[in-house]
Order: sequence, then C-alpha cells, then structure tokens
Amino acid sequence: METHDSQRTRDADIVIVGGGAGGLELAVRLAKAGHKDVLLIDRDTSHVWKPRLHEIAAGLGRRQVDELGYAGLAEQWGFRFECGTLEGVDPEQRQITLAAIPGREDDATAEVPVRVRGYRQLVLALGGVTPDMGVEGVLEHACLLDSPEDAERIAERFSRGLLANHVAMETATTGDADVSATQDGAQGGAKDGAQESPGRPYQVVIVGSGATGVELAAYLHEARGRHDAPAPKDSRVEITILEATETFMPGVSEELREAIHQRLEAQGINIELSRQVAKVSPGSVEISEGDESVTREADLVVWAAGRVGPAIVEEIEGLASNKKRQWKVTPGLQCLEQEAIFALGDCACIDEAPLPPTAQVASEQAEFLAEELPRRQQGEAAQVFEFKDRGTLLSLARAGSVGELGGKLSGKLSHAQGNDGHEDLQVRGRFARAAYQGLQRQHQFLLLGPLKGSAEVVSDVLRHAMGPRLKVH
Ligand SMILES: Cc1cc2nc3c(=O)[nH]c(=O)nc-3n(C[C@H](O)[C@H](O)[C@H](O)COP(=O)(O)OP(=O)(O)OC[C@H]3O[C@@H](n4cnc5c(N)ncnc54)[C@H](O)[C@@H]3O)c2cc1C
Repeated sequence: METHDSQRTRDADIVIVGGGAGGLELAVRLAKAGHKDVLLIDRDTSHVWKPRLHEIAAGLGRRQVDELGYAGLAEQWGFRFECGTLEGVDPEQRQITLAAIPGREDDATAEVPVRVRGYRQLVLALGGVTPDMGVEGVLEHACLLDSPEDAERIAERFSRGLLANHVAMETATTGDADVSATQDGAQGGAKDGAQESPGRPYQVVIVGSGATGVELAAYLHEARGRHDAPAPKDSRVEITILEATETFMPGVSEELREAIHQRLEAQGINIELSRQVAKVSPGSVEISEGDESVTREADLVVWAAGRVGPAIVEEIEGLASNKKRQWKVTPGLQCLEQEAIFALGDCACIDEAPLPPTAQVASEQAEFLAEELPRRQQGEAAQVFEFKDRGTLLSLARAGSVGELGGKLSGKLSHAQGNDGHEDLQVRGRFARAAYQGLQRQHQFLLLGPLKGSAEVVSDVLRHAMGPRLKVH
C-alpha cells in the first residue's frame, strides 16, 4: 500500500473500524474502563442496531428504532469518532487509509482527501453483507437487507408498490380506465410490474429462509396494517419465502423450525422448499427445476440468502481470509500472523470453531477484546474467546416471538434437544418476547448508561404500546 506520511495527521493507541454491534460496544467498553486513546471509525455518522432493520423495512423511521449518533456517544464516554470508509491497511507501517470523499461542484461541497491513521492496535469490525451468489440480476433488481438504506429502500418499494397494486385492483373491479392511466403515471414506469397484472395480490418474494428472511416476511405481512402506511389496510399482498435447500430454516432445531413454520403459515405466508432462484428480472424471478426453469411474478424481491464478509477483505494484502470472505483469526481473535490486528463479528472467523454471524457473537467478542487488548499491550499471553450461546430468538410480529435459549437458562426449565447436541429450551409468548428484548436492552444500557438507557427503554415500550405492535428486540 502506498504510504501517505504527509497526510498522516493523527495516531491512536487503539483504532476500531466499524461501529456496529461489536465495534461500537468495544469502543464504549474500552473508554469506560479508562482507556484514553481510542479512535472509532465508521462510514456512517450514526449507529442503527441491525437486528431491527426489518422494522425499518416494514415502515418505521430510523429514529423510531433508536438511531444513535456516534459523535454524541464518543463525547459521553471519552473516545474519539471519525467518519470515514476504510480502503486499506498497511500492517507493516501500522496504519490504515480512509477513502477520499469527492466534493460536489453543484453546491460547492468540499472534497475530503485520503486520510491515513496510525495505530498501535487495530480492530476490524466491518460486519458482513449478503452475497449475490453470482445469480444474474440480484444486484440490479432485488433488494438486500444489509443497511438502514437497504431497509428504507424496501419500505419505499413495498408501500408504493402495494398502493399501486391496490389502485390497479380497484381499476380492474370498476373498469375505470382513467384511474389506471393515473396509476401508470404515478409509478413512472416502475419495474414493480404490479400495474401489468391487475386483479392479483402484490407479490413479495423473499429468497432465503434464514432468520432475516423469516422475520422480514412476518413484518412485511403486518406492515400493510400500519396506521401510517400509505396503502389501505385491505390491500392484498402475497408473501412467499423461497428456500434453495430441502430444509426450512437450516441451522435451527426441528422443534423451533416447526413452531415458526406453523406461525408463518397461519399468517398466510407461503414457504416453498427446493427452489433455486437462477435469475432476478424486473417483476419476476426465474426458478430452475432440473434442466427446466419456471418464471414467477415477483413485484418485490428481497435477497436474504446467507452472509459473507465485505469485499474489502479480499482487497487487503497480508491478512488471511476464508472462502466466506472473512478474516481468519486465532481463538484470541488476532488476525493470523498479525500481532497488532484483531477482527471480530461477521467479518471474522475462528477457523477451528466458526461461529454464526450474529449480534450475540459480535457483542461477546467485543466484551472479550475490551479486556484482551490492554492485556496484550502489557505483553501478556493471548487468551481464548469462548462463546456462551444464549440461544436463538425470533420475533414474528403479530404472530409472536418464539425461540430457544441455550446455556444456563435452559437448565432450569423443561428441555428440547437442539440439533447441535446441546439442550435448548423452547420458549414462546411473553417469555420469549422478554428474552428477545434482552439483547438490544443490554446493548442500549451499555451504550447509553443506566439513566439514558432506561429512558430509551421506557420510550420504546410506550411507542409500542401506543402504536402498532411491531418487533422489539
Ligand atoms: C435484518 C437482520 C436481522 C438480524 N437479527 C439478528 C438477531 O435477531 N439476533 C442476532 O444476534 N443477530 C441478528 N442479526 C445479525 C447481526 O445484526 C450481525 O451479526 C451483527 O450486527 C454483526 O455485528 P458486527 O459488529 O460484526 O457488524 P455490524 O453490526 O454489521 O457493523 C459493521 C459496521 O461497520 C461499518 N463499516 C462497514 N464497512 C466499512 C468500511 N469500509 N469503513 C468504515 N466502516 C465500515 C458499518 O457502517 C457498520 O456500522 C441480524 C442481521 C440483519 C441484517
């Protein structure tokens, strides 16, 4: 990597890149423990708790899901924050490069040049993305759910498409050609395609039956009933989850899978297995069946098939990575053969014991590194990170919360055998809902402190009591 010594303006003892579930918690924990020189870098200026992205996709504003500005948190706890996008790491020089931000001539917005920051220890916490798996048309025509911007895009396409479809159905019923013309114009030739087939429900196709696809299906189903949604409550929508394998929700226990399946079906959500999507086009998806392929109408396609690390993982030299585009780390979360670089969360993988890409893992790894980094600075031997699985919990909007708790909790009540051999506790209803809230509550308390954290929890509870019943983590 080219060095930019002239631009190297400021160094930090610990630089954390990525202020998500793991990176932000790490910055706060280090600062709370009295570490004076921590620099957090993120490409955005505010943090949104990713497990609530489906709520944004279902129409809630970012502020309603507790968006937090990094600068305020940095001031509150005493670390530094800088907005920037990582584009290079130079392990030898112990420095990173942040991309230049181009200026805009039209409104005289200034350009920000490339910045270089030096570190004593670097933590990479860049999260993950949904891979397109080389399927034609995914990036052009499907929506992903990786960021708040993605979620907002889904919300806009869904609500607009649903309204347009509703109007088209009215038109089909009344035969009012003028209304049809207005609707076509309003869509501006949108590729939603709803107006081309009046008289049928708005078709949502979600590709992938992991937790993201399943929760999103439940929330979109509920979204049309929201009091502030543009489309009327009786707008018709059909939601289908397409799973490529023969198993719905591969990776969860049989009991949990069954419980979720039943609840989704009761809501009228279709689940189809062994459906390999080969192509996404405007208004349709192509599903391969042996040598044949079948085309199916799809007004909105959400691609939720798996998780890999970000593209930059493959672009940085000197840091070993795996096929899922994650940095390989030791059991102590240190990048291989790099004593000063660590990685956590979705962008990292311990080869000996891969972990699921969840906020739980990222958060526990942040807790581990908050103690490990200062220890390593003192020259102490590396410790081993141990994941304490607290279970899998899903919120299915009005269809309730279900899940299974791992670890100590499961020992106290009746058991069901999990598919990985450990005993899991099946939880449903209010208990599941309360447990589900736990992870974000813990995150909020850590980031905001007890006083502000409690205020946030109260206002969140009130919001849900007064508004439509949506997912709460
Ligand atoms: C819709 C959805 C629902 C989920 N539900 C759950 C759930 O119920 N329970 C659960 O445990 N997990 C859930 N997850 C998974 C969980 O959100 C992730 O595993 C977790 O957020 C990973 O944390 P992280 O710190 O690794 O990365 P992230 O939280 O993804 O944070 C990465 C950060 O890095 C920043 N960044 C990325 N690239 C750059 C760059 N080049 N330069 C600078 N900054 C950069 C991003 O802006 C972001 O702030 C869900 C995920 C999604 C998408």
